[in-house]
Amino acid sequence: MSMLHTAQKLITDSSKRLGMSQSELETLLALDHFHEFTIDLDGQQLQAYRGQHSNKRGPYKGGIRFHPNVDADEVRALATLMSIKNAVVNLPLGGGKGGVVVDPRALSDSQVEHIARSYVRGLADHIGPRVDVPAPDVNTNAAIMDIMVDEYAQLTGDQTRATFTGKSLDKGGSLGREQATGRGGYEVLLKTLDLLEDGDKELTIAVQGFGNVGYWFAALANDNPRLKIVAVSDSRSMLVDMDGLDVQAVYKQKQSSGSLGEGAVANDGIFGLDVDVLALAALEDSVTTDNQAEVTARYMLELANGPTSYDAQVELDKRGVVVLPDILANAGGVTVSYFEWQQNLADESWSEQDVNDKLRELMQSATSTVVEHMRSNNLSMKQAAFDIALTRLK
Ligand code: NAD
Repeated sequence: MSMLHTAQKLITDSSKRLGMSQSELETLLALDHFHEFTIDLDGQQLQAYRGQHSNKRGPYKGGIRFHPNVDADEVRALATLMSIKNAVVNLPLGGGKGGVVVDPRALSDSQVEHIARSYVRGLADHIGPRVDVPAPDVNTNAAIMDIMVDEYAQLTGDQTRATFTGKSLDKGGSLGREQATGRGGYEVLLKTLDLLEDGDKELTIAVQGFGNVGYWFAALANDNPRLKIVAVSDSRSMLVDMDGLDVQAVYKQKQSSGSLGEGAVANDGIFGLDVDVLALAALEDSVTTDNQAEVTARYMLELANGPTSYDAQVELDKRGVVVLPDILANAGGVTVSYFEWQQNLADESWSEQDVNDKLRELMQSATSTVVEHMRSNNLSMKQAAFDIALTRLK
């Protein structure tokens, strides 16, 4: 709940800067709809939810998670946060989030399929290509979206496949989705550096969290002569080479052995490394008041959701660390979901190059708007991003 607590405080601060009254803020945060129902699984009643925050800017959009800790308040808050994220990057989409209270690790494939189909049956009247377009989230994936699309088509006759995104490629998914979040973060960083950094000195980068997002970000950054990946870490260790790591070799090592390989050291020193950019691609609340003072980087790229606590953010702002906010920096995933939805509606399949070019344009344009707003209003980048989103959602 801590990441949501941080988001709530950032939203409240933003509403005050924008001169909104308490009741205007409450109206903005209120969900349009909240659907709650149960799914029968072999006699056991599973609680299921779908929160639809705002469709002022377009259909509701956001993930569906299967997790034992899913709860109604969390779903509501995450739906609101999706509206904010979609608004920052200026997608014509609102925010939604859903979930089923279940531990999928304890289930067979056919039980998971039963839950997926039942979830769609419970919601069929409230979702649709122009109404609400869910996507994968924690413990859900392309295979589950494929099942949901199939169920929705059987129930409604819809053949667009545009009611769910994050599908497999042969079921209407989009090229470029797997790397979209890392790539989006890379584009946000590049544009920010173009706007804020004098000269073209090579910049060093440490990446906390060498998973899907961290790897794709690191791979792209390493191909850019202006940037050098000097450290990556995972949940167990960290690999450092101030002359630059061979990102692909480290990735292969991690794929084959599960670890970062020879020379890896304890991962807790990553914040203290003398680097220009610290990319956070692991967990929420990684940077707190306990460790923010260790951060020496001038830029912090929030690829994970909520990796910086509210109080740590206040200290980082005072020290002049530029934090590239999660709602912008990790919006590449939802942006390519938006492209998938557009392709489905138009019955098109865009090339990977096309998807990447459109992603670059959209992320860089959103970044320019945020940086301009930050400069002209003397805000942090995070404050600017929230102010832009709230203004668009008011
Ligand atoms: P992932 O599970 O593929 O990777 C996470 C990585 O973090 C793993 O390598 C893990 O070992 C590492 N890690 C865990 N604890 C760590 C620690 N204490 N120190 C260093 N590394 C640690 O997950 P992912 O899909 O890459 O997502 C990463 C983050 O980005 C998550 O917060 C996720 O919510 C967020 N995010 C992901 C997407 C997406 O499209 N995948 C979109 C938006 C936000």
